[in-house]
Amino acid sequence: MLFLKPDLYVDSILDIPIDLLVESKIKGLIVDLDNTITEWNSPELKKEIFEWFAHLKIKQINACIASNNSHSRVSHIGQYLGIPAISKAGKPRRRSFLQAMKLLNTLPESTAVIGDQLFTDILGGKRLGLYTILVKPLNPREFIGTRLMRQLEKIVLKKCIFKEDKL
Ligand SMILES: [Mg+2]
Repeated sequence: MLFLKPDLYVDSILDIPIDLLVESKIKGLIVDLDNTITEWNSPELKKEIFEWFAHLKIKQINACIASNNSHSRVSHIGQYLGIPAISKAGKPRRRSFLQAMKLLNTLPESTAVIGDQLFTDILGGKRLGLYTILVKPLNPREFIGTRLMRQLEKIVLKKCIFKEDKL
């Protein structure tokens, strides 16, 4: 289970220090959509999130959205942020992560993945050796399948990962 331990665990994407990414030589970010930058199935994007992405651009870090959600919403938010977006990503499968790195023009060692789910975002990133950042979900209201997965996630987080070693 230690295999699933994220490199960084923060409350929100806004708590990720962009300077730390720069220092860690991260050049590209693969960012989850639902419950990471927007609430589940919500079109709303907070001003602070928009500004965080603008700050990334200033620091010359490219970003790409990879979401298991459907096309229209994912591409709409990608367009709004001015970054590429991959929908129906099928995370944790490798395909979308590889596709994202191609779009970002980065290698695994210079790419980080940011998401709120251990078994999709973090596992997928780990499989390719990316830097992994887990965020707390923005809102508890979500897809029924995800809610079930959360129960399992809780067990792993509490018993196997963060028991002795709090991030
Ligand atoms: Mg998510």
